[in-house]
Amino acid sequence: MSVLILPDQPKYVAWRHRMVAQLKQRGITDKKVLDAMDKLPRHWFVGETLLDHILYDVDQALTIDCGQTISKPYTVAWQTQLLELKPMMTVFEVGTGSGYQTAILCEMKARVYTVERHAPLFRKTKELLAALRYTQAHCFLGDSFNGVPEMKDFMYDRVLVTCGAPEVPEGLMKLLKVGGIMVIPVGNEEQRMLRIFKEGESPAQWRIEDLGDAKFVPMLEGRNF
Ligand code: SAH
Repeated sequence: MSVLILPDQPKYVAWRHRMVAQLKQRGITDKKVLDAMDKLPRHWFVGETLLDHILYDVDQALTIDCGQTISKPYTVAWQTQLLELKPMMTVFEVGTGSGYQTAILCEMKARVYTVERHAPLFRKTKELLAALRYTQAHCFLGDSFNGVPEMKDFMYDRVLVTCGAPEVPEGLMKLLKVGGIMVIPVGNEEQRMLRIFKEGESPAQWRIEDLGDAKFVPMLEGRNF
């Protein structure tokens, strides 16, 4: 499979500047998040079919392969800001999808371990991230409710879930270091964005913030070949 990386163009740069201005108006203040989103061409992650200003509409999620979505820019910015990332932190991401969120985390100097359950999406995005030279992104195929077998016993500074989980997966909380943060949309019909501060090993020491409504494709069990 060959990877198509279309060149950036002045019009895309202008659309990104406008997107970032809107994100600021909507309460995104983390400069590192804004800089990463200003820099990274979003059209690299959706293929040839969509090279439109819609890509840079802060509220527009778009369909990608396997009936999945690339999260809307506002959601990417919001979830990333909630992580309070510092350089070199390890992040476990559930739902690689297009790889856009993964690349934003890489631009912020995180080391990213990202999992996708759809094999075609996994293969395509793994190849794209490698072609873009994001060597600190590690892609896995699986359902990730308990992490991935390849990284057994590895603990992460942050966990970011980009699909709607039925409940907070205990297997994922186990992989989060004490002092770490998980950002996760939870719920079936109606989802809420939760931020969980793991202040100790026991669930009684997990401080949960409910940050409002969320809307993501569901987090499903099993991988899909
Ligand atoms: N971060 C992605 C969002 C993709 S949508 C982006 O910006 O493009 C969420 C993705 O989660 C979908 O690709 C879906 O297939 C995947 N997914 C759903 N359940 C999963 C699971 N249990 N483990 C891993 N990936 C999962």
